[in-house]
Amino acid sequence: MKDIEAVQLALEAAYTTLKDNDSGEIATYIPALAKADPNSFGIAITDLQGRSYKIGDSDLPFSIQSISKVLTYGLALHDHGRDDIRERVGIEPTGEAFDAIIKLDDHNKPLNPMTNTGAITITDMIKGTSPDNKLDIILNAYERILGHAPKIDMEVYQSEYDTGHRNRAIAHLLTHFGILDETANDVLRLYFKQCSILTSATELSVLASMLANKGVSPITNESVIQQKYIRDILSVMFSCGLYDGAGEWAFEVGMPAKSGVSGGIMAVVPGKCGIGIFSPPLDARGNSIRGTQACKILSKRLGWHALECSESFVPQNTD
Ligand code: GLN
Repeated sequence: MKDIEAVQLALEAAYTTLKDNDSGEIATYIPALAKADPNSFGIAITDLQGRSYKIGDSDLPFSIQSISKVLTYGLALHDHGRDDIRERVGIEPTGEAFDAIIKLDDHNKPLNPMTNTGAITITDMIKGTSPDNKLDIILNAYERILGHAPKIDMEVYQSEYDTGHRNRAIAHLLTHFGILDETANDVLRLYFKQCSILTSATELSVLASMLANKGVSPITNESVIQQKYIRDILSVMFSCGLYDGAGEWAFEVGMPAKSGVSGGIMAVVPGKCGIGIFSPPLDARGNSIRGTQACKILSKRLGWHALECSESFVPQNTD
Protein backbone atom coordinates (compact mmCIF):
# COMPACT_ATOMS: atom_id res chain seq x y z
CA MET A 1 0.00 0.00 0.00
CA LYS A 2 1.25 3.49 -0.82
CA ASP A 3 2.16 5.75 2.13
CA ILE A 4 -0.42 8.37 1.20
CA GLU A 5 -3.17 5.79 0.88
CA ALA A 6 -2.28 4.40 4.32
CA VAL A 7 -2.43 7.88 5.84
CA GLN A 8 -5.81 8.59 4.22
CA LEU A 9 -7.25 5.27 5.44
CA ALA A 10 -5.96 5.93 8.95
CA LEU A 11 -7.55 9.40 8.93
CA GLU A 12 -10.88 7.93 7.84
CA ALA A 13 -10.66 5.18 10.45
CA ALA A 14 -9.94 7.67 13.25
CA TYR A 15 -12.72 9.98 12.10
CA THR A 16 -15.45 7.39 11.65
CA THR A 17 -14.54 5.54 14.86
CA LEU A 18 -14.76 8.71 16.95
CA LYS A 19 -17.34 10.89 15.18
CA ASP A 20 -20.24 9.73 17.35
CA ASN A 21 -18.28 9.61 20.61
CA ASP A 22 -19.91 12.46 22.52
CA SER A 23 -18.22 11.97 25.87
CA GLY A 24 -16.48 14.82 27.66
CA GLU A 25 -17.29 18.39 28.62
CA ILE A 26 -16.59 21.67 26.83
CA ALA A 27 -14.46 24.13 28.84
CA THR A 28 -16.68 26.81 30.35
CA TYR A 29 -14.33 28.54 32.81
CA ILE A 30 -13.57 30.93 29.93
CA PRO A 31 -17.25 31.80 29.22
CA ALA A 32 -16.76 32.45 25.47
CA LEU A 33 -15.44 28.90 24.97
CA ALA A 34 -18.80 27.50 26.14
CA LYS A 35 -20.27 28.54 22.75
CA ALA A 36 -18.28 25.85 20.90
CA ASP A 37 -20.22 23.13 19.08
CA PRO A 38 -19.41 19.79 20.77
CA ASN A 39 -19.95 17.98 17.46
CA SER A 40 -17.16 19.83 15.66
CA PHE A 41 -14.41 17.38 14.78
CA GLY A 42 -11.58 17.71 12.30
CA ILE A 43 -8.20 16.09 11.74
CA ALA A 44 -5.34 17.19 9.48
CA ILE A 45 -1.89 15.84 8.73
CA THR A 46 0.72 17.94 6.92
CA ASP A 47 3.83 16.25 5.57
CA LEU A 48 7.26 17.78 5.06
CA GLN A 49 6.44 18.71 1.47
CA GLY A 50 3.59 20.88 2.77
CA ARG A 51 0.82 18.52 1.54
CA SER A 52 -2.15 18.39 3.91
CA TYR A 53 -4.48 15.39 4.30
CA LYS A 54 -7.70 16.34 6.03
CA ILE A 55 -11.04 15.07 7.23
CA GLY A 56 -14.08 16.68 8.92
CA ASP A 57 -14.05 20.25 10.28
CA SER A 58 -10.34 20.66 9.72
CA ASP A 59 -10.57 24.31 8.66
CA LEU A 60 -12.98 25.47 11.37
CA PRO A 61 -11.42 28.35 13.36
CA PHE A 62 -10.96 28.17 17.14
CA SER A 63 -8.69 29.86 19.67
CA ILE A 64 -5.34 28.14 20.03
CA GLN A 65 -5.16 28.43 23.86
CA SER A 66 -2.28 26.50 25.45
CA ILE A 67 -0.95 25.20 22.15
CA SER A 68 0.45 28.73 21.76
CA LYS A 69 2.91 27.94 24.57
CA VAL A 70 5.02 25.87 22.18
CA LEU A 71 5.93 28.53 19.62
CA THR A 72 6.46 31.17 22.30
CA TYR A 73 8.87 28.80 24.06
CA GLY A 74 10.75 28.41 20.75
CA LEU A 75 10.95 32.19 20.31
CA ALA A 76 12.21 32.65 23.88
CA LEU A 77 14.88 29.98 23.30
CA HIS A 78 15.97 31.91 20.22
CA ASP A 79 16.05 35.20 22.17
CA HIS A 80 17.87 33.97 25.28
CA GLY A 81 19.55 30.65 24.50
CA ARG A 82 19.04 27.32 26.20
CA ASP A 83 21.02 27.97 29.41
CA ASP A 84 19.37 31.25 30.24
CA ILE A 85 15.90 29.83 29.67
CA ARG A 86 16.65 26.76 31.78
CA GLU A 87 17.75 28.98 34.60
CA ARG A 88 14.40 30.79 34.55
CA VAL A 89 12.00 27.90 33.75
CA GLY A 90 12.55 24.17 34.38
CA ILE A 91 11.78 21.12 32.25
CA GLU A 92 10.12 18.79 34.75
CA PRO A 93 6.50 17.59 34.48
CA THR A 94 4.36 18.82 37.35
CA GLY A 95 1.88 15.95 37.50
CA GLU A 96 -0.65 18.69 38.20
CA ALA A 97 -3.35 20.55 36.30
CA PHE A 98 -2.29 23.19 33.73
CA ASP A 99 -3.46 26.04 35.95
CA ALA A 100 -2.14 24.68 39.26
CA ILE A 101 -0.66 27.31 41.52
CA ILE A 102 2.70 25.67 42.12
CA LYS A 103 4.58 26.78 45.20
CA LEU A 104 7.39 28.73 43.58
CA ASP A 105 9.35 29.06 46.80
CA ASP A 106 9.95 25.29 46.77
CA HIS A 107 11.63 25.48 43.36
CA ASN A 108 12.63 29.12 42.80
CA LYS A 109 11.24 28.91 39.28
CA PRO A 110 8.27 27.52 37.35
CA LEU A 111 8.62 23.80 36.72
CA ASN A 112 8.09 23.79 32.94
CA PRO A 113 6.98 26.07 30.07
CA MET A 114 3.83 24.09 29.18
CA THR A 115 1.87 24.86 32.36
CA ASN A 116 0.52 28.35 32.96
CA THR A 117 3.12 29.39 35.55
CA GLY A 118 5.98 28.64 33.15
CA ALA A 119 4.16 29.86 30.04
CA ILE A 120 3.32 33.25 31.55
CA THR A 121 7.00 33.61 32.50
CA ILE A 122 8.17 32.59 29.02
CA THR A 123 5.74 34.96 27.27
CA ASP A 124 7.11 37.82 29.35
CA MET A 125 10.65 36.86 28.26
CA ILE A 126 10.09 37.47 24.52
CA LYS A 127 12.55 40.21 23.63
CA GLY A 128 10.45 43.17 22.58
CA THR A 129 10.25 46.85 23.36
CA SER A 130 6.72 46.67 24.84
CA PRO A 131 3.96 44.10 25.41
CA ASP A 132 2.43 45.12 22.04
CA ASN A 133 5.77 44.66 20.32
CA LYS A 134 6.12 41.21 21.93
CA LEU A 135 2.69 40.29 20.58
CA ASP A 136 3.73 41.47 17.09
CA ILE A 137 6.83 39.26 17.30
CA ILE A 138 4.67 36.26 18.22
CA LEU A 139 2.09 36.98 15.48
CA ASN A 140 4.87 37.46 12.95
CA ALA A 141 6.27 34.01 13.77
CA TYR A 142 2.86 32.44 12.99
CA GLU A 143 2.79 34.37 9.72
CA ARG A 144 6.23 33.05 8.75
CA ILE A 145 4.99 29.51 9.36
CA LEU A 146 1.53 29.72 7.79
CA GLY A 147 2.08 32.26 5.04
CA HIS A 148 -0.64 34.57 6.36
CA ALA A 149 -1.13 36.75 9.44
CA PRO A 150 -3.25 35.10 12.16
CA LYS A 151 -6.22 36.88 13.73
CA ILE A 152 -7.05 37.17 17.42
CA ASP A 153 -10.53 36.23 18.68
CA MET A 154 -11.17 39.38 20.73
CA GLU A 155 -14.34 37.94 22.30
CA VAL A 156 -12.38 34.99 23.72
CA TYR A 157 -9.59 37.36 24.80
CA GLN A 158 -11.99 39.71 26.62
CA SER A 159 -13.81 36.79 28.19
CA GLU A 160 -10.59 35.39 29.65
CA TYR A 161 -9.34 38.84 30.63
CA ASP A 162 -12.56 39.39 32.60
CA THR A 163 -12.63 36.01 34.33
CA GLY A 164 -9.04 34.64 34.43
CA HIS A 165 -8.60 34.94 38.17
CA ARG A 166 -6.37 31.90 38.57
CA ASN A 167 -3.98 33.22 35.94
CA ARG A 168 -4.10 36.60 37.66
CA ALA A 169 -3.12 34.89 40.92
CA ILE A 170 -0.24 33.13 39.12
CA ALA A 171 1.00 36.37 37.51
CA HIS A 172 0.94 38.20 40.83
CA LEU A 173 2.81 35.35 42.51
CA LEU A 174 5.42 35.54 39.75
CA THR A 175 5.64 39.30 40.28
CA HIS A 176 6.07 38.73 44.02
CA PHE A 177 9.09 36.52 43.33
CA GLY A 178 10.58 39.09 40.93
CA ILE A 179 10.23 36.70 37.98
CA LEU A 180 8.39 39.03 35.56
CA ASP A 181 9.78 42.09 33.76
CA GLU A 182 6.44 43.62 32.75
CA THR A 183 3.59 44.32 35.19
CA ALA A 184 1.34 41.36 35.97
CA ASN A 185 -1.54 42.98 34.08
CA ASP A 186 0.54 43.66 30.96
CA VAL A 187 1.88 40.11 30.89
CA LEU A 188 -1.64 38.72 31.32
CA ARG A 189 -2.95 40.84 28.43
CA LEU A 190 -0.17 39.47 26.25
CA TYR A 191 -0.65 35.89 27.44
CA PHE A 192 -4.46 35.99 26.99
CA LYS A 193 -4.03 37.46 23.50
CA GLN A 194 -1.60 34.75 22.42
CA CYS A 195 -4.07 32.16 23.77
CA SER A 196 -6.84 33.80 21.67
CA ILE A 197 -5.01 33.52 18.35
CA LEU A 198 -7.37 31.85 15.88
CA THR A 199 -6.18 28.60 14.35
CA SER A 200 -7.64 25.40 12.82
CA ALA A 201 -6.72 21.72 12.80
CA THR A 202 -5.04 22.27 9.43
CA GLU A 203 -2.99 25.21 10.72
CA LEU A 204 -1.97 23.23 13.81
CA SER A 205 -0.77 20.45 11.52
CA VAL A 206 1.33 23.02 9.61
CA LEU A 207 2.77 24.37 12.86
CA ALA A 208 3.60 20.80 13.91
CA SER A 209 5.12 20.02 10.51
CA MET A 210 7.52 22.97 10.98
CA LEU A 211 8.67 21.29 14.22
CA ALA A 212 8.89 17.93 12.44
CA ASN A 213 10.97 19.63 9.72
CA LYS A 214 13.84 20.99 11.88
CA GLY A 215 12.18 24.39 12.34
CA VAL A 216 11.54 25.10 8.64
CA SER A 217 7.93 25.66 7.58
CA PRO A 218 7.06 23.32 4.68
CA ILE A 219 4.54 25.93 3.51
CA THR A 220 6.76 29.03 3.37
CA ASN A 221 10.20 27.36 3.48
CA GLU A 222 11.14 29.88 6.16
CA SER A 223 13.36 28.81 9.03
CA VAL A 224 11.31 29.93 12.03
CA ILE A 225 13.11 28.18 14.89
CA GLN A 226 16.77 27.25 14.85
CA GLN A 227 17.28 23.52 14.46
CA LYS A 228 19.35 23.33 17.63
CA TYR A 229 16.27 24.18 19.73
CA ILE A 230 13.83 21.76 18.09
CA ARG A 231 14.87 18.78 20.19
CA ASP A 232 14.51 20.88 23.37
CA ILE A 233 10.99 21.93 22.42
CA LEU A 234 9.92 18.41 21.42
CA SER A 235 11.37 16.96 24.64
CA VAL A 236 9.36 19.32 26.80
CA MET A 237 6.23 18.65 24.73
CA PHE A 238 6.80 14.92 25.19
CA SER A 239 7.13 15.05 28.97
CA CYS A 240 4.82 17.98 29.81
CA GLY A 241 2.55 18.75 26.82
CA LEU A 242 -0.50 16.85 28.06
CA TYR A 243 -0.15 18.00 31.69
CA ASP A 244 -1.10 15.32 34.21
CA GLY A 245 -2.05 13.05 31.29
CA ALA A 246 1.51 13.14 29.86
CA GLY A 247 2.50 9.66 31.10
CA GLU A 248 -0.49 7.91 29.59
CA TRP A 249 -0.05 9.90 26.38
CA ALA A 250 3.64 8.87 26.12
CA PHE A 251 2.64 5.26 26.70
CA GLU A 252 -0.32 5.08 24.33
CA VAL A 253 0.55 7.65 21.63
CA GLY A 254 4.25 8.41 21.94
CA MET A 255 4.41 11.74 20.10
CA PRO A 256 5.57 15.15 21.33
CA ALA A 257 2.29 17.04 21.57
CA LYS A 258 0.41 19.95 23.09
CA SER A 259 -3.24 20.28 23.97
CA GLY A 260 -5.44 23.32 24.59
CA VAL A 261 -8.72 23.82 26.46
CA SER A 262 -10.63 24.89 23.36
CA GLY A 263 -10.21 21.29 22.13
CA GLY A 264 -7.12 21.45 19.93
CA ILE A 265 -4.24 19.00 19.92
CA MET A 266 -1.04 19.39 17.94
CA ALA A 267 1.28 16.39 17.65
CA VAL A 268 4.65 16.03 15.95
CA VAL A 269 6.05 12.97 14.19
CA PRO A 270 9.69 14.11 13.92
CA GLY A 271 11.11 13.85 10.42
CA LYS A 272 7.72 12.78 9.02
CA CYS A 273 4.76 15.10 9.56
CA GLY A 274 2.59 17.23 11.84
CA ILE A 275 -0.91 16.41 13.12
CA GLY A 276 -3.64 18.88 14.12
CA ILE A 277 -7.00 17.93 15.64
CA PHE A 278 -10.01 19.88 16.84
CA SER A 279 -12.84 18.54 18.99
CA PRO A 280 -14.05 20.64 21.94
CA PRO A 281 -15.24 18.05 24.54
CA LEU A 282 -12.46 17.50 27.10
CA ASP A 283 -11.53 14.86 29.64
CA ALA A 284 -11.02 15.72 33.32
CA ARG A 285 -7.43 16.80 32.61
CA GLY A 286 -8.46 19.35 29.98
CA ASN A 287 -7.40 17.32 26.94
CA SER A 288 -9.69 16.78 23.92
CA ILE A 289 -11.20 13.29 24.15
CA ARG A 290 -11.62 12.70 20.39
CA GLY A 291 -8.22 14.37 19.90
CA THR A 292 -6.33 12.02 22.20
CA GLN A 293 -8.19 8.98 20.88
CA ALA A 294 -7.56 9.99 17.26
CA CYS A 295 -3.83 10.37 17.92
CA LYS A 296 -3.83 6.95 19.54
CA ILE A 297 -5.44 5.41 16.45
CA LEU A 298 -3.06 7.21 14.05
CA SER A 299 -0.03 6.27 16.14
CA LYS A 300 -1.04 2.60 16.24
CA ARG A 301 -2.09 2.25 12.61
CA LEU A 302 0.86 4.13 11.16
CA GLY A 303 3.55 3.02 13.60
CA TRP A 304 4.27 6.62 14.65
CA HIS A 305 5.02 6.03 18.33
CA ALA A 306 8.37 7.80 18.90
CA LEU A 307 9.86 4.76 20.60
CA GLU A 308 8.90 2.41 17.79
CA CYS A 309 12.01 1.11 16.02
CA SER A 310 11.33 1.82 12.37
CA GLU A 311 12.75 3.95 9.58
CA SER A 312 10.24 4.09 6.76
CA PHE A 313 7.64 6.84 6.37
CA VAL A 314 4.72 4.54 7.12
CA PRO A 315 6.01 1.29 8.67
CA GLN A 316 4.00 -1.93 8.82
CA ASN A 317 1.06 -1.89 11.19
CA THR A 318 2.57 -2.79 14.56
CA ASP A 319 -0.74 -3.60 16.25
N1 GLN B 1 -5.85 30.43 28.21
C1 GLN B 1 -6.00 29.20 28.96
C2 GLN B 1 -5.56 29.43 30.40
O1 GLN B 1 -4.55 30.04 30.59
C3 GLN B 1 -5.16 28.12 28.34
C4 GLN B 1 -5.21 26.81 29.11
C5 GLN B 1 -5.15 25.59 28.24
O2 GLN B 1 -5.40 25.63 27.05
N2 GLN B 1 -4.87 24.47 28.86
O3 GLN B 1 -6.22 29.01 31.31
